[in-house]
Amino acid sequence: MRTITLLSGKGGTGKSSITASLAVILSKKKKIICADCDVDASNLALVFGLKEDSFKEWVELSAAQKAKFDYNKCNLRKKCFENCYFKAIDFKNNRPELKEFGCEGCGVCELVCSANAVRLIDVNNAKIGYAKTKYNFKIVSAQLKIGESGSGKIVAEVKKKVNQLANEAEIMLIDSAAGIGCPVIASVTGSDYCILVAEPTPSGLFDMERAYKIVKHFNIPSGIIINKFDLNIEYCKKIKQFAKDNNMKILGKLAYDKIFIKALVDMTPVAEISDTQKKSFNRISEKLMRELHRK
Ligand code: SF4
Ligand code: SF4
Repeated sequence: MRTITLLSGKGGTGKSSITASLAVILSKKKKIICADCDVDASNLALVFGLKEDSFKEWVELSAAQKAKFDYNKCNLRKKCFENCYFKAIDFKNNRPELKEFGCEGCGVCELVCSANAVRLIDVNNAKIGYAKTKYNFKIVSAQLKIGESGSGKIVAEVKKKVNQLANEAEIMLIDSAAGIGCPVIASVTGSDYCILVAEPTPSGLFDMERAYKIVKHFNIPSGIIINKFDLNIEYCKKIKQFAKDNNMKILGKLAYDKIFIKALVDMTPVAEISDTQKKSFNRISEKLMRELHRK
């Protein structure tokens, strides 16, 4: 199975919409499986028309630890409260209490507590599930609970689940998180090819360059899709020059098209409702396949 990861550096580039259409087009020629690794804001399933209750299962996951107090042992001397860098402990009721958000599981409170009255425990801070799309391939998705950390570990769990469900899938398509943080690194690790989705704006170019540094660090071959290329021809040229300088292929250029908004509203990949977009994604998938064979 070849793993292809889409990343963007910047949010709002249309990465999930592009992943969904690419998945539908690729699935007509290859056996594929999708992984939504944007665990802080997973919405790839929605683009395929799947809501939360469309999933076959949701399993709770633990990717973090939090402090738990033993009031029978606590001497109320506030060492934990004074040393918590994240200000995650309250002392309002004359005893240490963990705030709803903020505990990073760093363990400092456990270290400074001479009474052994605090310890770190595993907490369920995410859930993972899978569903079958009407396009005849599966998608694995995970959701981190609000205010929780550990997204890199959850991404690793999503990829593990995909491997369990892959059967004879030839391609795993990963929709990674925006940005360049831990979940993106966890998504990109082990990929055979990465697609940078860029938009032609100053921040689009800057963030794409930063995302490329991750791909380059892991020595993964990559190409670029320029979304809304006609919004700014000058920056479109800059992205092309960047691709040339770094020996990358431009896999495709997509024009600004309001049909993308309609597709999102209809919870349908845009290549399913627009012949123009279908042709564009067919061309992108053909180039992508050639790239994969070449690498
Ligand atoms: S440091 Fe330990 S003993 Fe002191 S207040 Fe905190 S939990 Fe209680
Ligand atoms: S584990 Fe760290 S962040 Fe959490 S309460 Fe203890 S000191 Fe604060």
